[in-house]
Amino acid sequence: MKVICDRCDRKSAYYKEYSGESLCGRCFSESLREKVTKTISKYSMLKYGDKIAIAVSGGKDSLSLLQIMITLCKKRCSDICVITIDEGIEGYRDESLDIVKKFALQMNVEYKILSYKELYDISLEEGLQLRKNMKMSSCSICGTFRRRAIDIAAESVQANVVATAHNLDDVLQTFLINILAGDVERIGWIYPEPVTYANNLRKIKPLTEIYEYEIAFYALVNEIPFQSETCPHMNEGIRTEIREFLNKLEKGHSGIKYNAYNTMIKIAKRIKESSDKEHNRCILCGKDSTNSICSVCNIVTALKQ
Ligand SMILES: [Zn+2]
Ligand SMILES: [Zn+2]
Repeated sequence: MKVICDRCDRKSAYYKEYSGESLCGRCFSESLREKVTKTISKYSMLKYGDKIAIAVSGGKDSLSLLQIMITLCKKRCSDICVITIDEGIEGYRDESLDIVKKFALQMNVEYKILSYKELYDISLEEGLQLRKNMKMSSCSICGTFRRRAIDIAAESVQANVVATAHNLDDVLQTFLINILAGDVERIGWIYPEPVTYANNLRKIKPLTEIYEYEIAFYALVNEIPFQSETCPHMNEGIRTEIREFLNKLEKGHSGIKYNAYNTMIKIAKRIKESSDKEHNRCILCGKDSTNSICSVCNIVTALKQ
């Protein structure tokens, strides 16, 4: 690593192995925000006058996303608020709710917290107790519940855009999980250009082209407080194994995750174009669904049986 930053004369703090650039903390942050701005415009994620609800869990990715979006949107005059979903995971969620509240206040943005218990009359812990079939993984129940909860929270604050903090590592893992599960249609969902459904919400992932460890470094340099404790259920699914596998590959072959990401985008685009299914409404809850009963109602019914 070079001692001096490639962009200014400060001390270098970060070496981008895949591009060969050495950057100081300030120039690194600047370059990461430039990249996010490019992603946002490349996929037409934002329009003038949008009201953006940022889904913030309290981890490094979502709090960094909030800070980045506030910095970027100052120029665009878009309105930003924070939505947080309380799954009801004891001993884990309480700490992060506190961090989110404090950070939102510090950033001077409105925030809204919504819990699974309020929405589905069942917390995640209760749901996990009730499941009879271990094939229903905690992450698949939680993920389905969370997507719906985020929609409802965003509507309740009159937002028309929902931004989530999925990074390059997250989407690449999801891609491989879908390949291993044979879930071809879901691969199309990964394509970053947002689709607006009947509820008029545009879902965007501004960090989709950023490596996870670069967001971690961004959070560190910018002194963003975050919850370091990970979800107690995170090792139940296959995601952790895939994450470790990809990180091991990247260590020996710098840039390989980015190459794989670009391949994935091309595949996802084709699948998305060929599988644009008509959207119906769920006969039980009235929400958007590709089938007659949506995945949320399916899970809730199965758990309460
Ligand atoms: Zn610099
Ligand atoms: Zn439903």
